[in-house]
Amino acid sequence: MSEANPLDNARKQLKEAQRILGFNDATFDNLMTSRRELAVTIPLQRDDGTEEVLRGFRVQHNFTRGPGKGGVRYAPNVNFDEVRALAMWMTWKCALLDLPYGGAKGGVTVDPTKYSKTELERITRRYTTEISPIIGPEKDIPAPDMGTDSQTMAWMMDTYSLIKGYTVLGVCTGKPVDVGGSLGREESTSLGVAITGLEALKARKIDPTQATGVVQGFGKVGADAARFFHEAGVTIVAVSDVYGAIYHKNGINIPELKKYVAGTGKVVGFPGASPIDPEEMLTLDVDVLVPAAVENVLTGDNAEDIAAPIIVEGANGPTTAAADEVFNRKNKMVVPDILANSGGVLVSYYEWVQSNQAHWWSLQQIHEQQRERMMRAWNDVIKYAQDKDVAYRTAATVLAVERVVNAHRLRGLYP
Ligand code: NAD
Repeated sequence: MSEANPLDNARKQLKEAQRILGFNDATFDNLMTSRRELAVTIPLQRDDGTEEVLRGFRVQHNFTRGPGKGGVRYAPNVNFDEVRALAMWMTWKCALLDLPYGGAKGGVTVDPTKYSKTELERITRRYTTEISPIIGPEKDIPAPDMGTDSQTMAWMMDTYSLIKGYTVLGVCTGKPVDVGGSLGREESTSLGVAITGLEALKARKIDPTQATGVVQGFGKVGADAARFFHEAGVTIVAVSDVYGAIYHKNGINIPELKKYVAGTGKVVGFPGASPIDPEEMLTLDVDVLVPAAVENVLTGDNAEDIAAPIIVEGANGPTTAAADEVFNRKNKMVVPDILANSGGVLVSYYEWVQSNQAHWWSLQQIHEQQRERMMRAWNDVIKYAQDKDVAYRTAATVLAVERVVNAHRLRGLYP
């Protein structure tokens, strides 16, 4: 097994759940593999008239509790194993939040920053067409992830609707509010990261207004997570993106940084902050570290150097199994991805319900229901972790896997 392969990591976590729950190896084999996998080619005509062919994937890990649900990632290193791992984590995340979904994930191997908006539209429409036989409001419902956004989802919904011949708002979530999106969806993942992060500070008896934090990744999840922490009084001393990292010992003005990044596309160069090595940034002596970018950033190589007592996983799979061992030994509080960043799929669920019913809820309703449902999951995880004396990740995974295993048992095997 390799530390760099997120699928190995995901399977190790499942193995630990099997050890605790005691289900048989056939069930493990069933859960460690995807139910259905599709690889597609995406021929693209670039704006300059040249042609190239991109690769895309859609992996449906499990449907036992309902249709597949999971984002679509556009990134240069997307591959089958990464998408498989992300699809498996979606199954657990949806089960942990008690949503009527299985898990799925998609991706296109492409660096979206190197393509024009019209090229991205063509990529999205062709990808959607290729995966259209296996998606749909009752089959599998995509959403944004790294490198995709609400505009991507608008194109996806439009393409699927054209294929069907009528508008199908419920085919994907994370859409703009004007075309069937939900209020509160854009910031939902970040809000959930802040809700759980602030609970973690409370559990460790750290006053947020005296606390410091670091956020890795300043995209859809990281930027608003930093903002919510900032609004709660947490001093965010450093943030990074794929281009570099910045630091200020007295804290970075996050709302101003968001405006700066909207103009320049990068955090580096923000007036008043100094550049810092992105690897060194992860090791700063702060109260809370929020990895909100990619997988495998906290590994066996740097785990010993991580000073923060609390790690809140905005990203999916940022901590490898080797790093987890170190963090458990050092009694760090790791709020696992399937709990910390579950606000996104939770409000996606609310969006899907609204889209299917063509009936819209207020922002206040969304926020109240998000907080209530996430706190329920938080309390379930804390209680299980305390009762069984296990890490939060183990508690969250076991609770989720148990629900899926029970559903499998109740539905039975066919034929
Ligand atoms: P995004 O594309 O909007 O932003 C990603 C950010 O990470 C960018 O600032 C990018 O520059 C930065 N980044 C990329 N590689 C980096 C690296 N090696 N080091 C430092 N920064 C790097 O993506 P996002 O939607 O914010 O997703 C971030 C993470 O959150 C992913 O793991 C994703 O799966 C997870 N997630 C997203 C959602 C959602 O609703 N968008 C929900 C749950 C989980």
